Amino acid sequence: MSDGLRDGLVRTYRLLREHGLNDSHSGNASLRDADTVWITPTGCCADTLEAGDLVACRNHVPGPGASLDAPLHLAVYAARPEAAAVIHCHGPHAIAMTLRPEIASEHYFPDDFEGAYYFPKVPLIDIPYDHYVSEAPAAVAEALSRFPVALVRGHGIYAWGRSLDEAYKRAASLESSARISWLTASLGNRRPPGEPA
Ligand SMILES: [Zn+2]
Repeated sequence: MSDGLRDGLVRTYRLLREHGLNDSHSGNASLRDADTVWITPTGCCADTLEAGDLVACRNHVPGPGASLDAPLHLAVYAARPEAAAVIHCHGPHAIAMTLRPEIASEHYFPDDFEGAYYFPKVPLIDIPYDHYVSEAPAAVAEALSRFPVALVRGHGIYAWGRSLDEAYKRAASLESSARISWLTASLGNRRPPGEPA
């Protein structure tokens, strides 16, 4: 992979942090280049990450020091041959919404125009926190084989894209929709947020 592509992955991971979609160390991001997947390392800090820190995963095996979510990313690439990038972030509005089952139970339905246009129905996955590492790869990959984005209750957003920019757009857009649903609920709207109009 060219240095430019790896720099782009670092820049996008940093932007997730700078725009409040992740804290200093949360989330992860990857890019596929032919038979290699480059992913952020486990425990990395978005503020100081450099392209040389990215970990290569080859032959569907996470490289040494790869994010704990590396098996999940690899499962998404296997399920989505057209995917070139996968992003995971902890958008706070999206996470908060998933913790209110009366707003989002098995799916979240964005209230705003853009959210409803790009992802009218977003799957919401329940994974026990203590089984996360073993169950998340198959569960999230199955959801992303059918949808562009998915939510995991209490945890965050997963998005894939045919480009890094598309995955970034999807993740940012879902958090924006969740923020709008939250604002709408705070205004005392006439119908519960998260339900189709
Ligand atoms: Zn996470």
